[in-house]
Amino acid sequence: MSGKNKVVVVGSSNMDLVAKTPRIPVAGETLSGTDFFMVPGGKGANQAVAAARLGADVVFVAKLGKDVFASRSIDNYRNAGIDISRIEQIEGVPSGIAMIAVEESGNNSIIVVPGANAKLGPADVTAAKDDIAAATVVVAQLEIPMETVLETAKAAQAVGAAFILDPAPAGELSDELLSMVDIIKPNETEAEAITGIKVSDRASAAKAADVLLDKGVKTVIITLGGRGFMLARGRSKEIIANHNVKVVDTTAAGDAFVGGLAFGIAAGKPLKDAAVYANYVAAVSVTRQGAQTSLPTQMEVAAIMN
Ligand code: ATP
Repeated sequence: MSGKNKVVVVGSSNMDLVAKTPRIPVAGETLSGTDFFMVPGGKGANQAVAAARLGADVVFVAKLGKDVFASRSIDNYRNAGIDISRIEQIEGVPSGIAMIAVEESGNNSIIVVPGANAKLGPADVTAAKDDIAAATVVVAQLEIPMETVLETAKAAQAVGAAFILDPAPAGELSDELLSMVDIIKPNETEAEAITGIKVSDRASAAKAADVLLDKGVKTVIITLGGRGFMLARGRSKEIIANHNVKVVDTTAAGDAFVGGLAFGIAAGKPLKDAAVYANYVAAVSVTRQGAQTSLPTQMEVAAIMN
């Protein structure tokens, strides 16, 4: 039984701690920064918020510590209308964070501590089996342990839900995992990291897509930044162009695309229509600053479609 509009996202939740600084300090140095802010992030969280903001019924399966970052994140998910019953807080481990120093020049240096994200295990996926059984779409990325991603794929396959894998950050993917993926959505860099084929044009994107299709992935969507995306299914390869928008900040554009795709499929759109819709969602997101702050509502997407 599938729930209309129901999406389960299994993934990471982070808090980005951003300090503006005149320059990146060298080892042993203390500097006065000029500004500081906390920004909710993590690919899993961004994608869950993206789908929820569009109107999907989202369950987020995630792990957090018991700290101030967790409270902020949970409030944020609740406000986005996400079902938080599958978010567990555990003792003795920090919530996932990224410490980001941004120089005036725009250069940055980043330390990511996965913390509780690394503790999201296959048992957490099993515990969410009723939600997965009711879902139309299940989404995962690679900021959580690979065994958890594999368990998610198995659980989705077992109930006939569409399994979308965002292979980011790029890592090695087993043939077993790929054989269970309905839709994989790498960007050009990730497509190269996974297939060994440098993606620079239509021919190379098609070649990379074929490598993944040959491993049993049903649909490959390679996002091409400002050029849109390639949709590859069997022998069919189409490049769908992007919308001309004024780019402000492309942070989380890929997450906006995945959230839009998950929402579109869960809402019953045919795959190509859902991907075209996701392209609009991502296009709106690049016109705004930030990650989750840039994710649009259905009405905001409709406004650029007309
Ligand atoms: P990010 O890492 O910034 O989240 P990504 O590298 O995963 O993004 P991209 O391929 O850069 O993914 O972009 C994803 C989607 O975002 C594109 O397919 C497109 O829909 C949209 N997009 C990205 N850049 C632009 C742009 N310059 N103009 C319009 N749309 C864009």
